[in-house]
Amino acid sequence: MSLEQRTQRLREAGYKLTHARLTVLQVLEQQHEHLTSTQVIDAVAAIDPSIGRASVFRTLDLLTELTLIRPTYIDGSATPVYVLLPNGHHHHIVCTGCNRVIEFDDCGLAELEQRLETQYQVKLTGHLLEFYGRCSLCVLKAENTA
Ligand SMILES: [Zn+2]
Ligand SMILES: [Zn+2]
Ligand SMILES: [Zn+2]
Repeated sequence: MSLEQRTQRLREAGYKLTHARLTVLQVLEQQHEHLTSTQVIDAVAAIDPSIGRASVFRTLDLLTELTLIRPTYIDGSATPVYVLLPNGHHHHIVCTGCNRVIEFDDCGLAELEQRLETQYQVKLTGHLLEFYGRCSLCVLKAENTA
């Protein structure tokens, strides 16, 4: 999904594409990483200092509501990081030993989505999938200390 498609989604949902909204989307798009709200606020301020914290927070809430982004709590932190849902979905394998995050694209969940839509009479717009486990290094470490 491109920035264009994201802004389209915003308009379709009846929201104006304000300068603040566009800037927040741009930041998330460019950094292409997991960003805390503080990091988003800093990056937005670097582009346009006139955009206040409150409007960044409101924008993050709105984009979350539209499933363009999701907050997640990887790294066991108390502060959520925001991730883009590139094509409506985003996937992690989180190592509970070292907090390493592996990203993967192909979830193969299209069939499950269809089933859920039928079963619960819903229209799904995206998902954030996180698996938890031990990475190969942590498995090795555990074996060596056992
Ligand atoms: Zn690990
Ligand atoms: Zn991610
Ligand atoms: Zn997926």
